[in-house]
Amino acid sequence: MSGQKVVVVGGGLIGLSIARALAGRGVAEVLVLERHSLASGGTGKSSGIVRAHYGVPSLAAMAWRSVPVFEELGDAVGFRQVGYTVIVGEENAEALAANTAMHQGLGIDVDLIDVGKLQSMWPMMNVEDVALVSYEPRGGFADATQLALHYGQQARADGARIRQHAPVARVLTQGDRVSGVELEGGEVVEADVVVVASGWWSAKLMADLGIELPIEAYRSELIIVDAGEPLPDLPVVSDLVSLQYCRLEGAGQFLVGNSDHADFQAKFVDPDRYSNVAGEASIMRYAEKVMHRFPGFPEPAVTHTYAGVYDVPPDWNPVIGPVGAIDGLVLCAGFAGHGFKISPAVGDLVADLVLEGDSTDPDVPASDFRLERFAEGRPLSSLHPYVGAGEMR
Ligand SMILES: Cc1cc2nc3c(=O)[nH]c(=O)nc-3n(C[C@H](O)[C@H](O)[C@H](O)COP(=O)(O)OP(=O)(O)OC[C@H]3O[C@@H](n4cnc5c(N)ncnc54)[C@H](O)[C@@H]3O)c2cc1C
Repeated sequence: MSGQKVVVVGGGLIGLSIARALAGRGVAEVLVLERHSLASGGTGKSSGIVRAHYGVPSLAAMAWRSVPVFEELGDAVGFRQVGYTVIVGEENAEALAANTAMHQGLGIDVDLIDVGKLQSMWPMMNVEDVALVSYEPRGGFADATQLALHYGQQARADGARIRQHAPVARVLTQGDRVSGVELEGGEVVEADVVVVASGWWSAKLMADLGIELPIEAYRSELIIVDAGEPLPDLPVVSDLVSLQYCRLEGAGQFLVGNSDHADFQAKFVDPDRYSNVAGEASIMRYAEKVMHRFPGFPEPAVTHTYAGVYDVPPDWNPVIGPVGAIDGLVLCAGFAGHGFKISPAVGDLVADLVLEGDSTDPDVPASDFRLERFAEGRPLSSLHPYVGAGEMR
């Protein structure tokens, strides 16, 4: 099996993690083809939050398996282990307790803490509408671009090759198996296995093979807020009351992202042409939520905004595995804004699928991530969804 030639289409976190895992496990010929430069897709916009809080057990397990990777890499990928909290109101206390118990059953280091403890960690936070909190001491955040480049470096050290500015026009087949890819300039690269890890753009490569990948490009805005004073090491907050998430950014700033996906269909965009700044109305809305949650910041000011695009399947969870009736074709896309933290485990799962034909991790059944689940009407859903916040992904 390790004599196979594998082409990975896409040089984001996922494609590079897959290349790293395959090369690390002895696959002699691994080639990553990236149409622009490495990490230029969703990866370059990632907030890089590390946590194991998922409503789907296999995803929680994957996130938990990935934590030691961040711990080991540490400063090399900008990992700051400041902890991670989920805060909920009364209406979601039961779901938070149930999810936390599920996480503890998987061996995840997480606990429910009371609001007083949260207040002591985050003195400038308004906690009056917070009923319950979960706390993961080993969570935090890191730099997604740096992690992608690290995977690339590791893959190369193990013999993989990476080509940038090498757009793949189509996946080639011979009979019922893949035979390689054709680049936009007409060059043909032969392969026994083709892994399509091209984020939202995977849908087009699939469509050309007659495979429907239901996926949308959803624009998500972020703001950088200057708190007006230097900030200590504060845990990441996933605020399921106000529907926002916040983490430190530099010394006195923090990054705020939107977790209100109620009207997400209105924000589908062309991922090659979208506005990279938050609109006035949304800045006002986000600023209001920040002021509500953090009244203790002396002089908060929005200093910068930007936007990124999530590749969103109908259940907001990825497709990972063989697709269609084409031998050697593997799809790995649709991470919908949560692929960073699980990227180490995703690479390992794809290496398992290519080399062993199945997942070797009993907590991570490959069947969870089949493409067919959409057509069968069996989405991969949270066991204990949060009211108003939808699924915690
Ligand atoms: C704003 C934002 C915030 C996020 N925050 C978090 C977070 O806090 N925590 C978390 O876990 N996740 C987060 N994510 C999600 C995470 O960053 C993504 O799931 C992950 O980076 C996706 O990696 P990818 O490799 O699948 O896709 P991408 O990074 O999009 O990479 C796909 C690559 O394929 C290339 N490509 C496309 N078509 C072709 C082709 N035909 N030929 C060759 N190459 C091609 C593209 O140029 C691109 O580089 C966030 C995402 C965004 C956008």
